Amino acid sequence: MSGQVIALSGGIGGAKLALGLDRVLAPGELTIIANTGDDFRHLGLHISPDIDTLLYTLAGLDDPVKGWGRRDETWTFTRALAELGGEAWFQLGDGDLAIHVERTRRLAAGETLSQVTEALRRRLGIGARIVPMSDEPVATRVHTDEGWLDFQHYFVRRRCEPRVVGLDFAGAGEARMAPEVAAAFADPALRAVILCPSNPYLSVDPILAVPGMRAALAGCAAPVIAVSPIIAGQAVKGPTAKMMAELGLEPSAETVARHYEGLIDAFVVDEADAGLAIAGMQIAATPTLMRSLADKQRLARFVLGLAARLA
Ligand code: GDP
Repeated sequence: MSGQVIALSGGIGGAKLALGLDRVLAPGELTIIANTGDDFRHLGLHISPDIDTLLYTLAGLDDPVKGWGRRDETWTFTRALAELGGEAWFQLGDGDLAIHVERTRRLAAGETLSQVTEALRRRLGIGARIVPMSDEPVATRVHTDEGWLDFQHYFVRRRCEPRVVGLDFAGAGEARMAPEVAAAFADPALRAVILCPSNPYLSVDPILAVPGMRAALAGCAAPVIAVSPIIAGQAVKGPTAKMMAELGLEPSAETVARHYEGLIDAFVVDEADAGLAIAGMQIAATPTLMRSLADKQRLARFVLGLAARLA
């Protein structure tokens, strides 16, 4: 079966399934809509963490041990900066630095974030289109017991330790969908929209906060399928389950499914959560822990097969 596929993705969890989809789909069939709520300016550079994770993962440049950044990285810059008493809390590898410098240069020359990302993915030999949710700035801010924190301040500087009370996506109300996002949803060949197993609150909600995004999902003829980032009540990595508990939500696949209720046609849970039933929602269970490339491709095929049956 051929046709276009859209995947909504954050960083690490989303990129795993995005890689599987990229490998099982034909070139040109996949459009990945990336969260840019984590984007920030640091040391004068425009940093787009989720776009970079997607670029590195799909180009095979990612560090499988650390789970972020580039493989075979060196850290001379960050060390030298720390020696000078500079802002070294956000580690920038020497190779990684290049992507931030090049993005910042192109943006300053007048390119949109979409254009910069398109140029980078082509240069890195990536087949899938990677599109920011918006070319305008949207900034995730975390309301915590220590007050409002900018996202990277919460995530990296404070290592997700403060208790989360709420979230805000500053600028989302005025942001417009990137042109390629709107075009992807309008494509009559669209056969599936997949919400990757990303953090629903920090990675998917900022995308959904861009005006028109929810309507695009609700209005598209293709089935919309989400994959749970929570397996047996736990996150595979990161603060998703901790945050859910702090927000007064039970950390479970069911809570994630209910979060997306009305927006999705089907929900994929891990086999550990088989048996979950929600009225009006198709639920399918399969192994969803993606360790190897084979795991990622298998889950991608499973989701695409489900979409074909729902179509
Ligand atoms: P971030 O932006 O880098 O935090 O990454 P994402 O939001 O895309 O992904 C974080 C989520 O991915 C966490 O909730 C994890 O539980 C989930 N995750 C990571 N690896 C896997 C996996 O192999 N399978 C599933 N089902 N979820 C995963």
